[in-house]
Amino acid sequence: MDAPVIVVGAGPSGLVLAAELRLGGVEVIALDTLEKPSGESRGLGFTARTMELFDQRGLLPRFGDIETSALGHFGGIPLDYSVLEGAHFGARGVPQARIETILGEWAAELGVEVRRGWEAVGLSDDGEGVDLEVDGPQGRRRLRGRYLVGCDGGRSTVRRAAGFDFPGTDATIEMFLADVAGCDLRARQIGEKRPGGMVMSAPLGDGVDRIIVCERGTPPKRRTEPLGFAEVADAWERLTGEDIHGGNALWVSSFSDATRQATEYRRGSVLLAGDAAHTHLPAGGQGLSVSVQDAMNLGWKLAATVRGWAPPGLLDTYHTERHPVGVRVLMNTQAQGLLYLSGAEVEPLRNVFAELMEFPEVGRHLAGMVSGLDLRYDVGAGDHALLGRRIPSQELVGAGGKTTTIEPLHEGRGVLFDFTDGADLRRAAAPWSDRIQIVPALPHELPAGSPFAETTAVLVRPDGYVAWAGPDGDALSAALNRWFGSPVTTISA
Ligand SMILES: Cc1cc2nc3c(=O)[nH]c(=O)nc-3n(C[C@H](O)[C@H](O)[C@H](O)COP(=O)(O)OP(=O)(O)OC[C@H]3O[C@@H](n4cnc5c(N)ncnc54)[C@H](O)[C@@H]3O)c2cc1C
Repeated sequence: MDAPVIVVGAGPSGLVLAAELRLGGVEVIALDTLEKPSGESRGLGFTARTMELFDQRGLLPRFGDIETSALGHFGGIPLDYSVLEGAHFGARGVPQARIETILGEWAAELGVEVRRGWEAVGLSDDGEGVDLEVDGPQGRRRLRGRYLVGCDGGRSTVRRAAGFDFPGTDATIEMFLADVAGCDLRARQIGEKRPGGMVMSAPLGDGVDRIIVCERGTPPKRRTEPLGFAEVADAWERLTGEDIHGGNALWVSSFSDATRQATEYRRGSVLLAGDAAHTHLPAGGQGLSVSVQDAMNLGWKLAATVRGWAPPGLLDTYHTERHPVGVRVLMNTQAQGLLYLSGAEVEPLRNVFAELMEFPEVGRHLAGMVSGLDLRYDVGAGDHALLGRRIPSQELVGAGGKTTTIEPLHEGRGVLFDFTDGADLRRAAAPWSDRIQIVPALPHELPAGSPFAETTAVLVRPDGYVAWAGPDGDALSAALNRWFGSPVTTISA
């Protein structure tokens, strides 16, 4: 074995996964074809839930001041995300290249060394481990790992080589995207309809604008040369009448509405995360965020499996929990695409949809889906409002001073928050203290309607989802066994 886990691809999902594995105490080899990060701005932010995940690992200060806006859209129809408590349309104006730099630095601090200029070209899984063929600076070589994770993006070699099915629909339209300086464009909201298509422009600062051009009836071309700015400017002019050919294009790219998802996220010793597992229209800026969330879900489970303490089936919950999330992302991005890319024939549907979205309940539903805050995993029996949901941020006061329900998650371990003043729960959880942190503390100034009211304790998984919530103390041991495996020793009461 060269390492227990090999991660192919060092984009957002690969970097987060490698970092999470290191937090879980596992050696990892991460490799990427690119000699250096692409520097492409692609995604321009992250969703509310991904912002929380970065907060859980203490990463938010690295991003500096983050601008969030409650005002977003669904399929180009304005939607006020604050209709759902804690929701917003995500962090805006953080280019993907910067997100990757920050994640790369974090991973490096945890001991991840990305082998750059190494391209995965083939693999075989013999049931005991995976042999990966890699073309690197010294030519072709073979690496062996117990597990291998394909975080190698939408055109994933790992997915193909391991035989994953990837059904879905092909691209029907090619859309352009560019960061252009010197055009002084007026801002145009996503969804701004023009005869023949849709355009968007948003200022990125320093005189640079991000533009998107979607011209109906333009199926993807087979190109022999990279896309040039002139083609983008031509399409922009056709739709807006504005001539931007003289602009300085810092980056030009294209994307499509191809929508596909792997039917399984795990085949034997090979797993997929991020765009390798699902590709879709980048509507609502969800791709990067969902990829990061996949990696956070998988990291601790794979680490536990490698370390030997994972309960049976824990690794398979990666598929059962994350595949349905991917299904919903594909569904909502396809729906958004239909709303903002279709022509006049969809106008009546858009109008009905806009009316429906004025109902707060509809707004909450859509905001919860796109922000990632509505997620509820099936974590077992019980009817506590927090079960299976993300742990909300709440200030706590303990013997050691103030903390929050988020801060103890920085270490990437499970946490039992014990709000009782007795020792029973702590004693019950003590045999798992090598895997979870026990934090005795009391909620400070609970807001009205808080889910922590009447709650005696909360067990949180390393990815920030609630596995158990008291007062039913008897169920605590079952939850600990289910998510954290058998205790190392049994301590008698
Ligand atoms: C034009 C465009 C605009 C987008 N806009 C947004 C947006 O506004 N908001 C948003 O959230 N998302 C957006 N996305 C989606 C977002 O960029 C992706 O969802 C995100 O990058 C997925 O992360 P990932 O780590 O899974 O894959 P990637 O970022 O694709 O990373 C994959 C990595 O694997 C490497 N790799 C590939 N093949 C191999 C191989 N064989 N061997 C070794 N390494 C390999 C690549 O070099 C790359 O570094 C956009 C995407 C595109 C293309």
